[in-house]
Amino acid sequence: MVGAGQLARMTQQSAIALGVELRVLANTSDESAARVIVDTRLGDYRELADLREFATGCHAITFDHEHVPTEHIRALAADGYAVRPGADALVHAQDKAVMRERLTSFGAPCPAWTRVSGGAADGVSASAAEGVSASGAEGVKEVSAFAAEHGWPVVLKAIRGGYDGRGVWVCRTPAEVEEALSGGVPLMAEAFVPFERELAVLVARSPHGQGVSYPVVETVQQDGICVEVLAPAPGLDPEEAAEAQRIALQIAHELGVTGLLAVEMFQTADGLLVNELAMRPHNSGHWTIDGSRTSQFEQHLRAVLDLPLGSPSMSAPVVVMANLLGGDDPDLFKRYEHVMAHDPGIKLHFYGKEVRPGRKIGHVTAVGDDLETVRARARHAAVYLTTGEYT
Ligand code: ADP
Repeated sequence: MVGAGQLARMTQQSAIALGVELRVLANTSDESAARVIVDTRLGDYRELADLREFATGCHAITFDHEHVPTEHIRALAADGYAVRPGADALVHAQDKAVMRERLTSFGAPCPAWTRVSGGAADGVSASAAEGVSASGAEGVKEVSAFAAEHGWPVVLKAIRGGYDGRGVWVCRTPAEVEEALSGGVPLMAEAFVPFERELAVLVARSPHGQGVSYPVVETVQQDGICVEVLAPAPGLDPEEAAEAQRIALQIAHELGVTGLLAVEMFQTADGLLVNELAMRPHNSGHWTIDGSRTSQFEQHLRAVLDLPLGSPSMSAPVVVMANLLGGDDPDLFKRYEHVMAHDPGIKLHFYGKEVRPGRKIGHVTAVGDDLETVRARARHAAVYLTTGEYT
């Protein structure tokens, strides 16, 4: 697995049970997964030579993030490695414009969108200090024309490299568009979706073409960061849930995904729209460690090794996962005991990361029968651990 963040760390737990030897490529030896994986190699995922050395002897290569350059993934495949997902699939999780074009081509429901001129892709250095370049002005015109058709606000998104809402700007006026464009990053524009809530569907697909879908979940975001996941999505009409799963499995099939695919969706009064894709274990699937017969990490290993997939069924009627986001107090462990004593059913997961405000440092999971109770338990544990506040 290229990358040694918390996703690789949690994959190791499943690798141990399956008897799979997991090697990770880390930037530094203190990264989350590097701390717990014996076969940690140090190197730079942006350097093909490092990737080649890392890959030597591996049966399959996969990723815990989307930032490996597409041409390096192609080079590894040309060397004969089983890279899963492959470059032709992964590019749809790397490049939002490529993703939108492809999804629209086979009818997956997406928000209205358009490419925007300007940014580095056009060879323009449009720093704020230089003011709006010629192509920046062109971009503002294009977005204004798009807004005339679809209305304000317009959502501008970095085509590559965004995560946790970084690289997403909700613009209400041409002046705000101008400001977003001045960053010099290639952007696309999307209609602002007045969604009722955000859903996510996690599916797995193996090279054999076997596919499974986990139940549809609701993801609760704050400031662009997922804070809570409710499984299954409360009150979701069974037909709409089946439709969401069908869309996600279709995307996995059409793109030739191998491994996990997380499809983030907006639920609107008029139906579902696909927002975003990830091809790796995903925050919206952390609940599966404690709440499903097969955790997403085990499923990803099974899929990338072309093994039969595991059951995605839930092990309790309701599962709630809450992220632990670092607060001002770096010492969470002094509240550890309280949380364990207060609720022996709570499962704690720490990523071995230093606490920094807003950083995902772990998560907690509660399972049970009643949504309100289970949600309150998960929230209590997460809030108390990170802030010391008693909810
Ligand atoms: P990232 O890749 O940084 O996670 P996303 O595309 O998932 O970015 O967007 C982050 C958040 O911004 C979404 O979870 C959603 O809350 C909001 N968002 C994104 N696109 C739209 C849109 N078209 N309309 C309304 N809100 C949006």
